[in-house]
Amino acid sequence: MKAIVVKEKAVYMGRLPYEGDLLEELTKFVVDKGIRGGQIQVIGAVKKTVVGFYDQEKRQYFTIKIDKPMEILSLIGNISIKDGSPFIHAHITLADENGKSWGGHLMAGTVVFAGEFIIRELEGDDLVRAYDEETGLTLWDMK
Ligand code: ZN
Repeated sequence: MKAIVVKEKAVYMGRLPYEGDLLEELTKFVVDKGIRGGQIQVIGAVKKTVVGFYDQEKRQYFTIKIDKPMEILSLIGNISIKDGSPFIHAHITLADENGKSWGGHLMAGTVVFAGEFIIRELEGDDLVRAYDEETGLTLWDMK
């Protein structure tokens, strides 16, 4: 296993805008603040959700659309660099009106009802994403 050492630089706590796109709002925030590395968590609720599931054999994401209001039980994610810009990789777990869980790899199209975020800005060497032959994913280049 390989890793880098980072230090906490700042912690942001804030609210997501009503009917904002969850992934796009978070991305806009980290790009505006110039955050190149970090950790994200969100709780709240959504009006609808779009997540992905990566098919390891076909090496592509399948999109799952969930068109109903749900609670965000947990969103965790990280910030690193992809194609020269801050990039968010986040996974989300949601609950429906029966308390049943849904989730996946967060994609654009998830509409916020209410959301509280905490973003930890971490400083150290940049973690840069590069294409990984073994998985077909764009992973942290740790060579
Ligand atoms: Zn993912």
